Amino acid sequence: MNSRPEQPGAAVRISGVWYNAENRLMGLKASVQKWYQLYPKNRWFNIYAWIFFLAMPFFFIFRTMSAREIGIGIILFALFLVAYKFSFIQNTGVRYTCLTFEILISFTLTVAFGYIYFFLFLALFIGEIRRRTPFFLFYSFNIAASVAALVLVIFTEPEIFRTQYSFLIMSVIGVILIPFHKYSRHRQEVLEEKLEDANRLIGELLVHEERQRIARDLHDTLGQKLSLIGMKSDLASRLAGRDADRAEKEMLDVRQTARTALKEVRDLVSGMRGTTLQIELARATQILDAADIGITIENSMDNFDPGPLIDDVLGMCLMEAVTNVVRHSSASNCMIRLAETGSGIRMEVSDDGTGIGTQPVRGNGLRGMQERLEFVNGTLIVDGRGPLGGTLLQIEVPDVIQEGRKEEMG
Ligand code: ADP
Ligand code: CA
Repeated sequence: MNSRPEQPGAAVRISGVWYNAENRLMGLKASVQKWYQLYPKNRWFNIYAWIFFLAMPFFFIFRTMSAREIGIGIILFALFLVAYKFSFIQNTGVRYTCLTFEILISFTLTVAFGYIYFFLFLALFIGEIRRRTPFFLFYSFNIAASVAALVLVIFTEPEIFRTQYSFLIMSVIGVILIPFHKYSRHRQEVLEEKLEDANRLIGELLVHEERQRIARDLHDTLGQKLSLIGMKSDLASRLAGRDADRAEKEMLDVRQTARTALKEVRDLVSGMRGTTLQIELARATQILDAADIGITIENSMDNFDPGPLIDDVLGMCLMEAVTNVVRHSSASNCMIRLAETGSGIRMEVSDDGTGIGTQPVRGNGLRGMQERLEFVNGTLIVDGRGPLGGTLLQIEVPDVIQEGRKEEMG
């Protein structure tokens, strides 16, 4: 018989089994942080690569200019790089000042030398701004500055425009499209994370709700009947010596009440039934057939009756495992094994597909499986190299309900 789970959180005992749905709300946010870490990653590599490509046309232009102009150009170039470096500082005041400064330098470089490419740098940078107002402010500012610079070049340096117009115009288009694309992609990612979070939260709440309902039902049905049994057997024991007939009547009542209580518990548990292993085995066969994956079923369990709850959990796990084989494994064979172990039931689903990494990413499917198994004190093992060469999912559930039933009869 299993013991009460040690994890914090409410636990409910039904038919001799402790059910525990551990509250895992904490730590759900971890994955949300991932995106933010992308931002500084490889930043310097990008900058050097850009400098290399951007310096080439820059020096080209310089060859045709006077020493003084070249000097000014180099100073502006250097100032831009310094400002660019400082614009990665956390302080938003410093960052936005640098950005403004960079846009002005970029404007000057375009007007004086036809060198427009820094606007592209800035477009990339602006695309990373998360806050709405600064994003749109700098986005518009950058577009306005690059378009204004382009217009000035057209009028003051027609020669530069004539020779480089395709680059100049493409750069302005880039300045318009790049930040917006980056910004919307980021927003979409944030929304997706939020949605996923909300879905998980709903899942947790549903488990909680269900637990409350079970507790309430148990209290209303079993609780009442048990206290009635207690009172009546008290009375019967007091009556036993003096009024055997009444005592016997009370004991008959006790027996009747106990039967009703048992029936109510059974109804309660079967009301929670969703699916069965039998149903899902049939469905798995159909799905694998449809996906052209060969199926072998080894079932060495003679009289399979693990109780409705475990039946339901095993059915659900089987379906998830088989769906994963179809969706992710690229396998051509799948094997399902069912066996009794000394203390419970073992179900294995293996395939000959690509296998799963040693540290498999647990998506919602595997996580859901794990949670439901925890609910019945079962275990899930994921092995990347199973007996067929691909993934093996090994699921074990203790057969405690059956034990409970034996005790109840004996
Ligand atoms: P989902 O199916 O929603 O992606 P799961 O938790 O079911 O989430 O699976 C997590 C990941 O593990 C999958 O995205 C897939 O990469 C991998 N995976 C699961 N089952 C298999 C399998 N049988 N073969 C290969 N990869 C698998
Ligand atoms: Ca899945």
